[in-house]
Amino acid sequence: MNYNLNMKRKVLLVVVVILAVAILPLNRLFAQKIDETPIKVGILIDEEFTTFRAQSFSGHWRATFYPLIASGSAEQNPARKEVKTVSELVAEGEDLAISLTNKGLVGKLSTGKEIMGGYEKIVISGGELLNIEIPENRPMLLQGKLEIHINIEESRLLLINEINFHQFLVSSVSKFGISSEVEALKAYIVMARTRLKHLKENTLHKEMAYEVCDKYHCLPFSGAGQNRELVDILVSMTANKILQYRGKSVFPRYHHTCGGKVSSAKEIFNVDNEPYHVSVDDRVDNKGSENCFHSPGFHWSIELEKLDLLEFIAMSWAGGASRIFTGWEPLKIEDTGRITRVLLRGRIPKEIDGVEFFENLKMYFGPNSLKSMRFSMEVLRRSVIFRGMGQGLGVGMCLYGADGLAKKGKRYNEILEFYYPGVTIK
Ligand SMILES: [Zn+2]
Ligand SMILES: [Zn+2]
Repeated sequence: MNYNLNMKRKVLLVVVVILAVAILPLNRLFAQKIDETPIKVGILIDEEFTTFRAQSFSGHWRATFYPLIASGSAEQNPARKEVKTVSELVAEGEDLAISLTNKGLVGKLSTGKEIMGGYEKIVISGGELLNIEIPENRPMLLQGKLEIHINIEESRLLLINEINFHQFLVSSVSKFGISSEVEALKAYIVMARTRLKHLKENTLHKEMAYEVCDKYHCLPFSGAGQNRELVDILVSMTANKILQYRGKSVFPRYHHTCGGKVSSAKEIFNVDNEPYHVSVDDRVDNKGSENCFHSPGFHWSIELEKLDLLEFIAMSWAGGASRIFTGWEPLKIEDTGRITRVLLRGRIPKEIDGVEFFENLKMYFGPNSLKSMRFSMEVLRRSVIFRGMGQGLGVGMCLYGADGLAKKGKRYNEILEFYYPGVTIK
């Protein structure tokens, strides 16, 4: 009796499964949702460190140590024979210190146990939150999986955090999203998701084991420690939505503040394949106040010593040698006010691209010196006063402008269509 009933149930289950498979379109069954897609993130890739500490903040983590195999076979080096893959539990509250030695990676647990012998890779996974402390950096809370590699050329550690799109977007938009407006945050999220998808498919780091890094040219990221609850909710509300231009994927650009005028990608980067990056007057219907007028980066000024400016040019383009260049001047100024070519004067003059000039300026004088390439100069006897507008390169979405548009009642799709004319949201 029981047996028969069980059989009937099994047959019924099989029929239901077959029906379900037949009814569901195959692509929906197998297509992975964008927000569940894994992404490998290079963390603090410019930092040089050979030791760090990982603490299990929540949940039980497991650290697996993989032996060195690339550098010589077991026959050449008998000591290698002894090294096997080992796996250690890092229980909640416990921590693991990892160092790079001349033998490879070694670890020490807070329980006192040491993992010696030399490993080439360590993978820590399984728990909910992992707190990592890198010397001279703020602690960072990570989710997902953490891989520790050796960057051989620079003999330092390389950390790669594998998470999914949802987790990355919550961290990234919490970090760069200067607005508290729901519609502006939704616009940031759809832009960032589209950008992340494009970077996953066209990585800027082809030679590396990670797909994106945590810097502005990819997307800012600093783990889950500063995650905003509202951003998390809005990532779910806009789940899987991305921008397209005539059915094709796009690489949306963004910046802090345009100062009233957004430039085209052609003007700033001299590219022809981004028709959705055109110059935009950052005002509603070309009238009234600029959408980013309330930004601290809308107007700025700074006074720099002439000697410091010459030193900056010598360090950036003459290998530190003075007297190669005697000065500089803007060579090309776009209609949107941005300087896109700079001439270095000297016996052999040199032309510099505006983006390159700007990146070097920020590196030399710091991020709070000249905020954009949209400025005028007042030359005094010993110094130059720069008066500028906007912050950043000025292409694509103006983050403060998006905030302004949301405050003026615009919806997120209207904000996206405003900064990326011609795009559709899929
Ligand atoms: Zn990058
Ligand atoms: Zn703006």
